[in-house]
Amino acid sequence: MDQQQLLHISKQHMWLPFTQMSDYEKDPLIIESGEGVHLKDIEGNEYLDAYSSLWLNVHGHRKKEIDEAIKKQLDKISHSTLLGAANVPSILLAKKIIDLAPERLTRVFYSDSGATSVEISIKMAYQYWQNVGQPHKKKFVTLRNGYHGDTVGTMSVGSIDIYHRVYNSLLFDSIVVPYPNVYHHPSDDEKVVCEQSLTELGEIFKNHHDEIAGMTVESIMQGAGGMNVMPNGYLKGVEQLCRKYNILLIVDEVATGFGRTGKMFAVEHENVQPDMMTLAKGISGGYLPIAATLTSEEIYQAFYADFKEGKTFYHGHSYTGNQLGCAAALANLEIFEKENLVKQAEEKSEWLANQLQEIAKLEHVGDVRKLGLMCGIELVKNKETKEAFPWEERVGYQATLKMRELGMLTRPLGDVIVFMPPLSATYEELAEMLTILRKGIEQVTEDVGEKVNV
Ligand code: PMP
Repeated sequence: MDQQQLLHISKQHMWLPFTQMSDYEKDPLIIESGEGVHLKDIEGNEYLDAYSSLWLNVHGHRKKEIDEAIKKQLDKISHSTLLGAANVPSILLAKKIIDLAPERLTRVFYSDSGATSVEISIKMAYQYWQNVGQPHKKKFVTLRNGYHGDTVGTMSVGSIDIYHRVYNSLLFDSIVVPYPNVYHHPSDDEKVVCEQSLTELGEIFKNHHDEIAGMTVESIMQGAGGMNVMPNGYLKGVEQLCRKYNILLIVDEVATGFGRTGKMFAVEHENVQPDMMTLAKGISGGYLPIAATLTSEEIYQAFYADFKEGKTFYHGHSYTGNQLGCAAALANLEIFEKENLVKQAEEKSEWLANQLQEIAKLEHVGDVRKLGLMCGIELVKNKETKEAFPWEERVGYQATLKMRELGMLTRPLGDVIVFMPPLSATYEELAEMLTILRKGIEQVTEDVGEKVNV
């Protein structure tokens, strides 16, 4: 099929996620292949993949070892159900993940996306309290601007106005507490923000712990809510409060897991031991849809009973624990070991921090936030007052379109530009990406800055 036909059909029959289709019609993009940190479209244009194909690619595209592991698994079987029967790669993968995860976590419940891994944690936490005879513990606490996926359950523990308000009456109520957002807080002292936020959370726990099942929180860095990094000590403080008030701590590592923040899991930055941890995205190196919800033995044991007691966890998806996905994930984790990838990510993170200082100096860059290779660059109209650009100017979107013209793909979160290259990107490739990032920001903010200042 030729390019024109593909384009035509894509416009006629496709409906893309998180996409206003009138934007797509104006600037369509059809990817055909990839190699390393590059993606190629059907016209042969090459792009640097600066958002790791939505925050999940780890080793670049077409990593030989993962390609081969999938082909080898294909020769045995692609899929058999996990309902009532395990399969070989899922067992091997469970062992590998548990060896890497915080000690408190001993069990792996598979699914197939970040949203399902969190949805499962919500249902498990809810049922856990019933199984242990405390059915009044039903509510969830979550942070303002949290994002955990797009299913009804995960939206209910999410709180990004633009994504969620439309569905409000469909969602169950969660207790939403302010995010310890240092850049947008009246005090820009990290310690003050941390202490105030924990005091506020402590008050809520004190008054409502009898009703609260769990707290759902993105690990150290909030992604879709604007790439916000928690102040030092905040997540540790949340853990202590959860233990004090008997509330389950559910840490979402969907975006931050697998080396993304310079540690295998972001909880390691603060030595936090969650009761549940959700994993997806980088678990298969960004290859196949597989996800996992890890739990403590205590939670698992609350479901383990004689069939007649009705404590079974009635949840499972058709493709849960898919063998190809598990084989890709096993190969992914072997590369982590072989290439000492977490250490490499830590080193690249330090280098990147220095490079980003130059970007932070640009006239319309209000804040640069990063942890490891997870970065967000917030564009503002006025650096002093932190005044935002007019919403309708879509400065973030325009900047990413400009970057695309210059040969790099990423997506904005409002006026925050996401910069999340694959962990495998070389220093030269990172430097190339940073040049485009800078040019894109400069060109668009100058144009819009002039326009809004008239
Ligand atoms: N949790 C977090 C923290 C995420 O960043 C995402 C996806 N960006 C999800 C959950 C949902 O994952 P998925 O898109 O695989 O459903």
